[in-house]
Amino acid sequence: MILNVVKYGDPILTKRAEEVADFDENLHKLVDDMFETMYGAPGVGLAAPQVGVLKRLFVMDCSSGKNKKQRVALINPVIETEEGEQNGDEGCLSFPGVFLEIKRPQRVVVRARDIDGSEMTLDLMDLEARCVSHETDHLDGELFINYLSPLKRDLTRRKIKKRIKQGDW
Ligand SMILES: [Zn+2]
Repeated sequence: MILNVVKYGDPILTKRAEEVADFDENLHKLVDDMFETMYGAPGVGLAAPQVGVLKRLFVMDCSSGKNKKQRVALINPVIETEEGEQNGDEGCLSFPGVFLEIKRPQRVVVRARDIDGSEMTLDLMDLEARCVSHETDHLDGELFINYLSPLKRDLTRRKIKKRIKQGDW
């Protein structure tokens, strides 16, 4: 089932999400629906708060469905190591049509559970590292516009407000 993606302006996007405690049928269903929503958008990552669920999990697939190995759901993720730096354009499904140049770590080591509750550690580079950093931020109520300079952030916010007013959001 395709879920409704919450857009910037909704207060849920700025809240801290809670740990997942139950690795049950409901979690499996949520993860399935989140993958379907992400691929349908289309996007390469989607965090639970973006579909209105304040739980610590996200799905990602930086190959956009081309490589099964890159299709992962991370539950209760914790970033253990961040290394290096990369600069690049970034989007967010909660900010349709907004692309911003954001600095992220080049490499990220993240520890998480899979949907059955088993522990895993992923050592990721480049786009996948960027994605983990972006999606983990969502679980702490952090949005990519927070990385902009105050001036650029105000400008972006103003543009979005205008679009909200025009009904284009
Ligand atoms: Zn996002």
